[in-house]
Amino acid sequence: MRTLIFWFRNDLRLQDQRALLQAAQQADRLLLVYVHDPAQDEATAWGFRRMGVHRRRFVADTLQDLIASLQTLGQQLVFLHGPAHEALTECARRVQAQAIFCEDIAAPEEQAQVQDLRSAEFAVNTVWQSSLLEPEKRPFEVVDMPQVFTAFRQRIEAAGVQPLPPLAAPAVLPPPPDLAPLHTLPGWTDNPWTLLQVQQTSDSDDRSNFRDHLPRCQGGETNALAHLQSYLTPPWPDRYKQTRNALQGQHTSSHWSPWLATGALSVRTIWTALQTYEQQHGANDGTYWLWFELLWRDNFRFLHLQHGRQLYAARGLSQLPRPSHFPKDFQRWCNGDTGEPIVDAGMRELACTGYTSNRMRQIVASYLVHDLACDWRSGAAWFESQLVDFDVYSNQGNWLYVSGRGTDPRQGRRFNPVKQTQDHDPQGRYRKQWLSR
Ligand SMILES: Cc1cc2nc3c(=O)[nH]c(=O)nc-3n(C[C@H](O)[C@H](O)[C@H](O)COP(=O)(O)OP(=O)(O)OC[C@H]3O[C@@H](n4cnc5c(N)ncnc54)[C@H](O)[C@@H]3O)c2cc1C
Repeated sequence: MRTLIFWFRNDLRLQDQRALLQAAQQADRLLLVYVHDPAQDEATAWGFRRMGVHRRRFVADTLQDLIASLQTLGQQLVFLHGPAHEALTECARRVQAQAIFCEDIAAPEEQAQVQDLRSAEFAVNTVWQSSLLEPEKRPFEVVDMPQVFTAFRQRIEAAGVQPLPPLAAPAVLPPPPDLAPLHTLPGWTDNPWTLLQVQQTSDSDDRSNFRDHLPRCQGGETNALAHLQSYLTPPWPDRYKQTRNALQGQHTSSHWSPWLATGALSVRTIWTALQTYEQQHGANDGTYWLWFELLWRDNFRFLHLQHGRQLYAARGLSQLPRPSHFPKDFQRWCNGDTGEPIVDAGMRELACTGYTSNRMRQIVASYLVHDLACDWRSGAAWFESQLVDFDVYSNQGNWLYVSGRGTDPRQGRRFNPVKQTQDHDPQGRYRKQWLSR
């Protein structure tokens, strides 16, 4: 009797779940777990809680949806509370599991979690599954990956590399082992809101700002697939290239990111749906630009495979001096109280909703590192805490890029707030909406 554990990480879905399918194929009994590390509840070195309320709610919704889908397969999701290696080894001991399967995440902390498990002589099978393109199908080795995004994209396009189609959700799963030995684990709960220490809220709660902004923006695979189809309706994708830099608006960009970040939506599922859209309605600049942006997402993933921990150093990949930092200015930035209206509006939107557009992210990030001369890592940490779509690869990669410490040949992108205001909020509507709160 082979008992295996499948550890859900940032892949909270059943469709296109390569890692779960591999575990299911090899198990007689399969224990499905999600781990909440209390470090997420604690203050970081920068002085705030690592996982903010917006992401907690979104993840709790996502877990609830996953619970419901697993029930239809006769399965159950077990929540563990504690540092991953401790919680998982204790759990494995109690159910006498032989190995753990999980998705591979190429960021240092996530790699260390797996390393700690392996150091405890535990068999861990990690499966790469979060990029659009398969790492081994790239037309270059990891070490030879072009450093500049344009060269990266051109090499991929010239080689005609295509994503793999998504895998179907499992029709059956092996049953769970006896769960009784787990009921006495410290912090045992079957309620995702209790696990994440957040209140379950209704449609009329304070997320309404967020929902006006992103209709149907509730976590989970079911909502993700509904949202995917609702965005892939003419004319939205066709207009994407023209509208993607808008500061707000329901269909100005895809708003796929919160579901991609939790893994409720696989990027290959998006790709296949986008191809179907192109077959039915025609390919154009807009649909091409969505591919272009999804390649950026892949680029930051592959950069992690290439540079790993170096992306987390104060200097990043650059030879620039270590960044300076001014805690009071940083605090004013976090509070949306810098005195620069466009920046303050963006920071208040972020705090209020857990989301802000790509253009606003660029403007506020640039202001923190280039105008306030603060440490880019403090901004990355604040975004991690606040963003509902926090994704370790995209966050780190974009902060490095804006601060000139990544692979951008321009060594830093300063967005002039006055020009950005004229270009993107000439009537002042966006500032009025967020500064009046
Ligand atoms: C400082 C900074 C921090 C960021 N942190 C995150 C983060 O933690 N999580 C995150 O998902 N994105 C992050 N981004 C990238 C980008 O802002 C968001 O992906 C995008 O705003 C999400 O909205 P959307 O889904 O409507 O994107 P769309 O414009 O509709 O793009 C479609 C998809 O392409 C991908 N994409 C688009 N732009 C980028 C980009 N610049 N980098 C990587 N992928 C991209 C996303 O998966 C997105 O969902 C950050 C950008 C900046 C400047």
